[in-house]
Amino acid sequence: MQDQFDFDFFVIGGGSGGVRAARMAAQRGVRVALAEGQALGGTCVNVGCIPKKLYSYAAHYAEAFEEARGFGWDIDAPRFDWERLKANRAREITRLNGIYENLLTQAKVTLLRGWATFIDDHTVEVDGQRHTARHILIATGGQPSLPDIDGREHVLVSDEIFDLSPFPKRLLVVGGGYIACEFASIFNGLGADVVQLYRGEQILRGFDDDVRHFVAAEMIKTGVDLRLNAGVKCIKKVGDELEVTLNDGTTLTVDRILYATGRVPNVSGLGLEKLGVKQGRDGAIEIDDRYNTSVPSVHALGDVTARIQLTPVALGEAMTLVDHLFGDGRREMSYAYIPTAVFTHPNIGTVGFSEADARAEFGDIAVFQTDFKPLKHTLSGSTERTFMKLLVDRATDRVVGLHMVGPDAGEVVQGFAVAMKAGATKHIFDTTIGIHPTSAEEFVTMRTPVS
Ligand code: FAD
Ligand code: NDP
Repeated sequence: MQDQFDFDFFVIGGGSGGVRAARMAAQRGVRVALAEGQALGGTCVNVGCIPKKLYSYAAHYAEAFEEARGFGWDIDAPRFDWERLKANRAREITRLNGIYENLLTQAKVTLLRGWATFIDDHTVEVDGQRHTARHILIATGGQPSLPDIDGREHVLVSDEIFDLSPFPKRLLVVGGGYIACEFASIFNGLGADVVQLYRGEQILRGFDDDVRHFVAAEMIKTGVDLRLNAGVKCIKKVGDELEVTLNDGTTLTVDRILYATGRVPNVSGLGLEKLGVKQGRDGAIEIDDRYNTSVPSVHALGDVTARIQLTPVALGEAMTLVDHLFGDGRREMSYAYIPTAVFTHPNIGTVGFSEADARAEFGDIAVFQTDFKPLKHTLSGSTERTFMKLLVDRATDRVVGLHMVGPDAGEVVQGFAVAMKAGATKHIFDTTIGIHPTSAEEFVTMRTPVS
């Protein structure tokens, strides 16, 4: 019965979700093939999380050099070499591509380099070759989406930002989500003059309102020229410069423009129409809670389903799907209390409900919050402040939201996310001993609610 197909499991897309699914399935002795049209590792490894975080580290050095003086260090005017950073990043990414390839081949996954397209619900074609499989997984991720603006041929998307040449001295960033805020911070830190335009009242819609206001104010303090309720009317290229007319009629002259206005699922060329796979907005593949599409042998997960677009979510979904298809099916993927970080300068770390959502969900909420100058900045001369906030459901005493803006907020919040998944109450937070002197200890020492 098994040999009726070439493979038990055919994975389309070698990104976060696809590689994890292929490897986990192969380790269970399942016959697996994976098709990837570009470099292995997908968005996260090649043009997402990893190179972005490396550039964020690079940008943080600017503050470190400034702050070192207060601690007794004298540093001659530091110089930044963009070409060296790009070359070092590229080398590290190539190393990671190789690691991904080894992981797959060592697990005995058949690796097919090329773009896959469906022939029917059990057959996929890659590079003119047809392959049949009992189960086919679509893990093709997403790609940047651009609004239809006058002059869109002059703008960049995030895929192109990592290898820019030369370094953009004046950068305009359009958008107020994760990518726009992170790259505004990064290029500002690296020494560019950055203007960020956001169309709404405040950046990072969906995050806690206090977090949004706090991080916006800190970003402005670091030098990002953040303009709210603002947008682009048209863009013209004049010589080597870009002339941008804003909606309010004012103009800006910049070297480069990054549009970070969201991402759409990668579905073109897959041939989904002939299968009848149900799709939603922008082609997002519709799935049930077991990652099944409307076609029984076809499954989907990760960014192509346009739900929560985070690497650890794609990884969790992949492991759950493999367990359901080839294991005992007991693994569950919970979407509650997924922690996340935004690598702005300073970072945001957050898990659970925003205050507005917590009030809507639980009604009676106690809010604990603090903002303070971290110990380091008593000598560093930096005016950066740190913000922390806890939301407690008064009926159960459970901590239902935890937010931080400050150095390494993601590192701090990851541990608290475990406590929150375990249902930690404010009483448990209060009886936890702090680690002194840290910023994180504030989370276990906030005693008086602000409301
Ligand atoms: P992807 O990783 O995008 O992989 C899809 C793969 O499928 C690609 O390699 C593509 O080439 C391939 N493919 C597509 N079509 C075909 C086809 N027809 N045939 C063969 N192959 C195909 N998330 C975080 O958690 N933390 C972060 O810090 C973070 N930073 C980010 C920064 C940026 C700039 C971006 C853009 C994203 C970031 N993300 C981050 C999001 C994260 O990268 C994605 O959520 C994650 O990569 C999704 O994994 P995936 O497997 O669904 O898709
Ligand atoms: P987001 O959806 O986070 O943000 C898109 C931004 O663009 C929003 O501010 C949105 O405004 C704005 N926008 C949308 N359409 C337009 C338009 N036509 N004109 C002007 N502005 C517009 O998308 P990103 O591209 O930033 O990132 C995609 C996803 O990738 C993220 O949601 C996240 O899941 C993931 N990611 C995760 C990271 C991390 O974990 N650190 C880092 C980077 C990406 P509005 O809010 O008003 O709709």
